[in-house]
Amino acid sequence: MAYSYEAPVSQSLFDRASVVTPGGVNSPVRAFRAVGGTPRFMVSGTGPYLTDADGREYVDLVCSWGPMILGHSHPEVIAAVQEAVSRGTSFGTPGEGEVALAEEIVARIEPVEQVRLVSSGTEATMSAIRLARGFTGRAKVVKFAGCYHGHVDALLAAAGSGLATFGLPDTPGVTGATAGDTVVLPYNDLDAVRAAFAAHPGEIACVITEASPGNMGVVPPADGFNAGLKELCAANGALYISDEVMTGFRTSKAGWYGVDGVRPDLMTFGKVMGGGFPAAAFGGRADVMAHLAPAGPVYQAGTLSGNPVATAAGLAQLRLLDDAAYAKVDAVSAELRSLVGDAFTKEGVAHTVSSASNMFSVFFTDRPVRNYEDAKKQESFRFTAFFHAMLEQGVYLPPSAFESWFVSTAHDEQAVERIAAALPAAARAASEATA
Ligand code: PLP
Repeated sequence: MAYSYEAPVSQSLFDRASVVTPGGVNSPVRAFRAVGGTPRFMVSGTGPYLTDADGREYVDLVCSWGPMILGHSHPEVIAAVQEAVSRGTSFGTPGEGEVALAEEIVARIEPVEQVRLVSSGTEATMSAIRLARGFTGRAKVVKFAGCYHGHVDALLAAAGSGLATFGLPDTPGVTGATAGDTVVLPYNDLDAVRAAFAAHPGEIACVITEASPGNMGVVPPADGFNAGLKELCAANGALYISDEVMTGFRTSKAGWYGVDGVRPDLMTFGKVMGGGFPAAAFGGRADVMAHLAPAGPVYQAGTLSGNPVATAAGLAQLRLLDDAAYAKVDAVSAELRSLVGDAFTKEGVAHTVSSASNMFSVFFTDRPVRNYEDAKKQESFRFTAFFHAMLEQGVYLPPSAFESWFVSTAHDEQAVERIAAALPAAARAASEATA
């Protein structure tokens, strides 16, 4: 498909990047492969806006895939970073910032009695799984199709996110031995979990789930699903790991735990808690965390873990995220969901606006979407047309029909108006699209 608008500077940067970097990007979904066209190289961000290398401004509905919940360049976050950076960038020793960030996490999320800081969500889930295996002495891990937990070998079976976008069921490079200990089940299906525990008695170390999935599009847990997981894990001596890398500190002050109150044994965090820097964490029951080195035998480490600049950014962001901030993000999300739904209804486009707290996405189907199989049945070719029509009008959406959209406290009336103005033509483009 040809697109009528140009991005010559982004194109020339992408050409250069493609010589020195596989596919021209450092994370696959950024490459626009699912939607075609030239990925926009961004040069700056302020509030709800991003500016690309061609000087075009966009209302940003990606928010760096979740972290930028206060918008870009929030003055207090920038000031905290500048203050931290002026004292040095990494010491390889403990520092007070790490303690303060850990205290903030423990104070917000009651099931987290102790927490270990790492640098990415992938590291958090990888480490949580190792700890669960070390704690239980068991090998198998249950995960759900369409849930993405980072590019951890054992968890790349039927993952969502980029793997959903590119239709990769698995990835070369993950050995049979690694994948063989992963049991993949359909999401929102407690009977399947019951059957897995019955088929592998005494072998399952943990069940890991996105607290509320956002990597196959937004597919919230059915009523009682997370509670059922917790119960089945407890009854079978397995740990219940809630991956809150995406939902943590976003869907409420205490993340998805603050929404459904189901108490996990271990939790993982990333994105919002780093304020746009590489900071992530895993934590939970003190008796489980006590198995982690140097307190216990399960090894886990990181040269840049608890980096002073990253922890300063994360702490500044979390301290600004009070009840009023979440009320603002929730309200903007609700307004946009209603505008988006109305635009598609007006054009007769079959759709479902699916949401979990302030996270949302659109499925191009009017059938219920409860799991990855349902999500894949949508008419995603309509998203491609919709995406480009929005981009052309200065609205930056995630370049895939299988990703959550994110808003921030900085999405003010003017930003919402710009989105509203772009929607009618984009909904028309979706309605006229052909497979
Ligand atoms: N877990 C979830 C639920 C995620 O959404 C992601 C990333 O999108 C990860 C883990 C991996 O985090 P990272 O990309 O920081 O490694």
